[in-house]
Amino acid sequence: PYVIAGDCLDIMDQSCTEECPVDCIYEGERKLYINPKECIDCGACEPVCPVEAISQDRRVADDMSDHIEDNRRFFTEV
Ligand code: SF4
Repeated sequence: PYVIAGDCLDIMDQSCTEECPVDCIYEGERKLYINPKECIDCGACEPVCPVEAISQDRRVADDMSDHIEDNRRFFTEV
């Protein structure tokens, strides 16, 4: 699936939520989150993000691995 990294913090532009065909992008307190179970890997959200916070999880840089963990927590708590 695709993931939203830290660049989204306090930005929450929402361009991605408008593009997502399956509405799997959810609003957290300080950033947006993609539900990995619902994402169909279409890639539509990636180019529209103004801060380039979105990428495929296997392409996420090591220093962003915290956000994968944060993402997992977000969806296990709701
Ligand atoms: Fe939604 Fe497609 Fe982005 Fe997944 S890759 S979050 S399905 S727009």
